[in-house]
Amino acid sequence: MTAQLIDGKSIAQKVREEVAVEVARRTAAGKPQPTLATVLVGDRTDSAAYVSSKGKACLELGMGSISEHLPADAAQELVEEVVKRLNTDPKVNGILVQLPMPAHIDEERVLSIIDIEKDVDGFCPINIGRLAQKGREPLFVPCTPSGCIYLLETAGVKLEGANAVVLGRSNIVGMPMALLLIRNNATVTVCHSRTRDLPAVIRQADILIAAIGKMEMVRGDWIKPGAVVIDVGINEKADASKKKGYRLVGDVNFEEAVQVAGWISPVPGGVGPMTIAMLMRNTLRAAQIQDP
Ligand code: NDP
Repeated sequence: MTAQLIDGKSIAQKVREEVAVEVARRTAAGKPQPTLATVLVGDRTDSAAYVSSKGKACLELGMGSISEHLPADAAQELVEEVVKRLNTDPKVNGILVQLPMPAHIDEERVLSIIDIEKDVDGFCPINIGRLAQKGREPLFVPCTPSGCIYLLETAGVKLEGANAVVLGRSNIVGMPMALLLIRNNATVTVCHSRTRDLPAVIRQADILIAAIGKMEMVRGDWIKPGAVVIDVGINEKADASKKKGYRLVGDVNFEEAVQVAGWISPVPGGVGPMTIAMLMRNTLRAAQIQDP
């Protein structure tokens, strides 16, 4: 058996086209361009690359992009001042603070001062709190987990009543992912570094979301035959045949898993493109909320 591929690249492209059409409609009607401001503190090359691809995506979709880059030793007060300024800037619809920030910065404090109507990453405690509570609606849902749900829905996977295992419990992926699956009526198990007998737990999963940042850790024989596997992980694997000396692989051993799973999202070309597409959708939504 060979799993069917969930092609995140083309699904994300479709989302981007829908966003671009709506952006064009709004601007043709005389409304300002939806605009995303990114805040990068420090010089991590991966963070700089993510911020740059988010800015590029804005421009491709007809949206505005503002980037604030602060030095690695920027004081907490300075970072907060920048966020507060963006909060009150009428040109800015969405604010994205690139994580992780340098260790001396209190991330939680920075995230909690983002205006809830501009919180396009959905990490502000009010948005996450609403996501966790029945009958409450967050204004924005974090982009990577909502991208995973979009992939599952597009593949026609029934979430209701399914046994879903989320591998990882981080604030930005695992935890909001579990909350979203619960909202979609899946029965959810969350695994982490203290989980006992991980393979046995994962073997129960109709749907597996892997988000641990451990290269190819999930083996083919951990997967229930026919299961749906969404691989969020991004890991650099040495590969002398590549110009950069490495290639990107996920948290799941793809070659093994593809023989067992029913559906699988590849790395690259799975969840990654969806994260940016959902961010673009959230930025458009922010503009729609602020200027209906
Ligand atoms: P974190 O490092 O913040 O969290 C990792 C989680 O995995 C933790 O909950 C940790 O458990 C758990 N974990 C780590 N090792 C093990 C193990 N051996 N067994 C079981 N659980 C383990 O990572 P993120 O959530 O930020 O990211 C996860 C992966 O997803 C990374 O590869 C990252 O690059 C990628 N990513 C991809 C995105 C995309 O757009 N495709 C976006 C964001 C992230 P504990 O809590 O006990 O420490």
